[in-house]
Amino acid sequence: MTLADLDKTYLWHPFTQMADWCAEGHTPLVIERGEGVYLFDGEGRRYLDGNASIWTNIHGHGHPAIDAAVRSQLGALAHCSFLGTSNPPAIRLAEKLVGLFPPDTLSRVFFSDDGSTAIECALKMAVQYFQLRGEAGRRKFVAFSGAYHGDTLGAAALGGIETFHGRFAKLGLPVVHAADGAALAAIPPGEIAGVVVEPLIQGAAGMRLWPPGTLRELRDWCDAGGALLILDEVMTGFGRTGKMFACEHEGVTPDLLALAKGLTGGYLPLATTLATERIYRAFLGGPAETFYYGHSYSGNPLGCAAALASLRVFEEEDTLAGLGPKIDHLAAALDGLAARQPRVAEIRQCGMIAGIELSGGDGSLGARVCTAARAHGLLTRPVLDTLVFMPPLSITAAQIDEGLAALEAAIGEVCTQSI
Ligand SMILES: *Cc1c(COP(=O)(O)O)cnc(C)c1O
Repeated sequence: MTLADLDKTYLWHPFTQMADWCAEGHTPLVIERGEGVYLFDGEGRRYLDGNASIWTNIHGHGHPAIDAAVRSQLGALAHCSFLGTSNPPAIRLAEKLVGLFPPDTLSRVFFSDDGSTAIECALKMAVQYFQLRGEAGRRKFVAFSGAYHGDTLGAAALGGIETFHGRFAKLGLPVVHAADGAALAAIPPGEIAGVVVEPLIQGAAGMRLWPPGTLRELRDWCDAGGALLILDEVMTGFGRTGKMFACEHEGVTPDLLALAKGLTGGYLPLATTLATERIYRAFLGGPAETFYYGHSYSGNPLGCAAALASLRVFEEEDTLAGLGPKIDHLAAALDGLAARQPRVAEIRQCGMIAGIELSGGDGSLGARVCTAARAHGLLTRPVLDTLVFMPPLSITAAQIDEGLAALEAAIGEVCTQSI
């Protein structure tokens, strides 16, 4: 059997209708190698990684510095439990991460495995924090329509996308869903432990931008009512929006911050929840105050080594300084695309994230365009009829043009067919 056949025989893929995946006419794409912004399949065909391997990759695949750091760590230690012991890369990474925020804001780093667990951890920290402060009545969370915070039960309860979250909405924790910042005015703050939000842009909602000032508005509401502001920078963290973190655009720092996807440069599953000293201190005491939360692979040395190396690459390659011109180039190229393609209804851009919404689709148009784009050497995934282009930050201007040309060719092909 070929690898593709074995896949269809034994695997169950995420967010995938397996009846379609396993259908006679479908051959799974098996990616065997990555180099820079490109991925290669078993036949050696090359694809530009147009969604940075589901929003994770930062400096490209096979970056020599990150490869070397992981190899070197492998020579020392692959894993040892973080429950009761520590390890050098985790210690150094925590110091580095805290240093990325203004003094006396986020000061403690809690490790977990992925975006969902970083959010779960933030929710539990918030609930226990208020219990420890004698405010046990604060146990609800505010989250937003269109929100996506992960797929574990607590994170999914925050979610505001009916297709993904509706089925499980009643199983999770108490959540008040709000349409936007203004809707908070109608929510009594006394029972709210925290407001959870993806700053600047909601990813899985189809790359939807918040009106400028929203973060500030949420910070003020939390401060006035005594709730915690919990930011989910799982997608926006590590340069995606043009600054290291999206919250910097509005000069806001959260009480709790979830980081994952780009933390290791897109290399390994590792996540952190950062907390302020005020929250951390509430947990000091005895067994009753202890935060009983953790995972087998918390603080994994390989992941931490990759994350440290990724942060070093940010410094050595001056990644953030190089982003401005790339973001401008992307904006100009997207303008051209919209002008030439009548089926482009709206383009939403935030830094190195672009959502290209097509008109007249049925929810599957985006997927058909992305499938067609593969033949032109571009790999990406849509959100319904919104095409996503968010390549590794290491992409060059010429490669941005190449990726968008592939997308445009695919839009042309598929939309002509379907008119
Ligand atoms: C991807 C994502 C998550 C979930 O992260 P996983 O690593 O997939 O569990 C949470 N929040 C946001 C904003 C995300 O984009």
